[in-house]
Amino acid sequence: MAINLSGESVLILGAGVTGIAVARSLSAKGASILFADDQVENVEGFKVSKSDQIQVDGLSFIVISPGWKESHPLIVKAQAAGIRLVNEIDLAWSFRAELVPGQKWIALTGTNGKTTTVEMAAAMLRAGGVSAIACGNVGTTVIESVESPEKYEVLVLELSSFQLHWLREASFVAAAILNIAEDHLDWHGTFTEYARVKGSILDRASTGVFNSSDLEVVNQAAHWQGRKVFFSLETPAPGEIGIVEELLVDRAFVSDPQEAAMLAEIVDVKPTVPHNVANALAAAGLVRALGVSPEAVRSALQNFSLGRHRIEEVANINGISWVNDSKATNPHATVASLNSALSSIWIAGGLAKGAEMQELIAKCKSRIKVAILIGADRELIADELRSQAPEIEIVYVDAPGTYQRGGRDNSLMEAVVKAAAERAKTGDRVLLAPACASMDQFISYEPSAHR
Ligand code: ADP
Repeated sequence: MAINLSGESVLILGAGVTGIAVARSLSAKGASILFADDQVENVEGFKVSKSDQIQVDGLSFIVISPGWKESHPLIVKAQAAGIRLVNEIDLAWSFRAELVPGQKWIALTGTNGKTTTVEMAAAMLRAGGVSAIACGNVGTTVIESVESPEKYEVLVLELSSFQLHWLREASFVAAAILNIAEDHLDWHGTFTEYARVKGSILDRASTGVFNSSDLEVVNQAAHWQGRKVFFSLETPAPGEIGIVEELLVDRAFVSDPQEAAMLAEIVDVKPTVPHNVANALAAAGLVRALGVSPEAVRSALQNFSLGRHRIEEVANINGISWVNDSKATNPHATVASLNSALSSIWIAGGLAKGAEMQELIAKCKSRIKVAILIGADRELIADELRSQAPEIEIVYVDAPGTYQRGGRDNSLMEAVVKAAAERAKTGDRVLLAPACASMDQFISYEPSAHR
């Protein structure tokens, strides 16, 4: 490998998926690696120390995994000592210049829909004959994608606010912001700061793709100089992407602004629910900026299916539809989820991460038949239901005494399903869309992660 880091000593903050991928890459280039992690104790082949045991003197640089706060004592110490701090994305960007200099990067962020949209965009590129992979906050890390023997022509990066917080160098041919709503306020402090970090995806982008139905996205676009393309579920003006009757239509990437290119039919987007159509429009905007044809956009959408745990029908028994949207871990995603059907027996609750539930209930109360509430912050939801929609039945389900987070006993979810089954009738939809994170009760949003 061309890049030589022999003799360099690198500290990696966080021994998770990203940190381990970085460690492998850097040690293959000759660097000696030390991990700082207060939870993980062993990583095969590498040394791990508690963060308060680490001396920063003599380090060549430090790699920060997503989630580490700037106020962490080790980061404060490193900054005082003048040591360079870099995240995995910028590190991958610096290797890209040497390994795959022609590779183009496109990126997106948003509170919800990121994974779905990067997967759609990558599928559209591939349908157009371009080798591409979705990476970042999905499955494969960016560093692995840059170093892949495939030598991808395009990387489609999903960037969370945690990754954007530390991003300084990577630049994007096109970048999209899907939506900005309250989430992770416990980490970012204020909504303004969270929104500013999301907006920073534009700092080195050429074309920006923006959701014109989202006030905060429009606000971020207003502060940016660059080629702006807006998308929405409305009829597009020249320069925009949108919907005309039953069609997805592009009036941005056409040679004559009075023209429109038909991208797909709405029914090509499955499931055909509003937020998913918006994601398809955003993905189309990103890849049209790279010259992908309307035909490729359509064929990718026709062959695309949503990832698991995203408004996924897991059972349909006696005319009752059981839908798992455990990925809806904030109120904004849950609004989209409840709005994708007329009525639901709704299962929700967990850790609200600083978000409020007032708007969620205001927007969705007509679509809730019964609310089954679990978890630490369920009173936030219950309070709003009682004050805005007292007619909706609230059912509290507590974890049975035998239940242990992360254990083998699945009695909490079984009690929830029982409560829902007792109330559901033919034609009902039972929807798990918690509006909260689940770490107070479960290991992850994925049922399969329950050991
Ligand atoms: P992310 O990677 O941003 O978490 P996902 O595609 O995994 O996004 O979807 C996360 C959750 O958000 C799911 O519950 C999904 O149904 C919901 N969702 C997807 N797209 C949108 C959207 N455009 N607006 C609101 N909610 C959405």
